[in-house]
Amino acid sequence: MSRTILLIEDNEQNRYLVTFLLERSGYQVVSVEDGRRGIEMARTCAPSLILLDIQLPTMDGYEVARALRQQTPLRTTPIVAVTSYAMPGDREKALEAGCTGYLEKPIDPETFVADVERFHARSAPEGSSP
Ligand code: MN
Repeated sequence: MSRTILLIEDNEQNRYLVTFLLERSGYQVVSVEDGRRGIEMARTCAPSLILLDIQLPTMDGYEVARALRQQTPLRTTPIVAVTSYAMPGDREKALEAGCTGYLEKPIDPETFVADVERFHARSAPEGSSP
C-alpha cells in the first residue's frame, strides 16, 4: 500500500501540524489549501488516504468529498473528514457525502496518527463506523 496521504486543509497551522505528525511516522504528505486543488491532486498523487477539512474556501468539504468519490480510482480510498464542527448531524453529513469517517479538531498529537491508521486499514466508503 502506498503511504501517501493527501491533506486538504486551508489552515496553515493545521497543515503544518498534521504534516509533521504524519511524516514523523513515515508517511509522505501532499497538502493543498483548497478543494479544487485537492481534487486535481487526488488524480495524480494516488493517495492511500485523504484527510479533508470541512470548512474550506469556495467548495466546502462535503462538496469536495462528493467530487472525489466520482473519480473511479478513489471510490474506495478512505476519506476522513477533519473538522471542528461538533454539531450533531455533521458527522452524518460527512458520511452521506462519501467520507469514511470523521476526526475532530483540535487534533490531539498523541493520538492523531493512530486514529488515521484506523481508517487506513479500511477501504469501504460507507457501512463502517469508527
Ligand atoms: Mn478550514
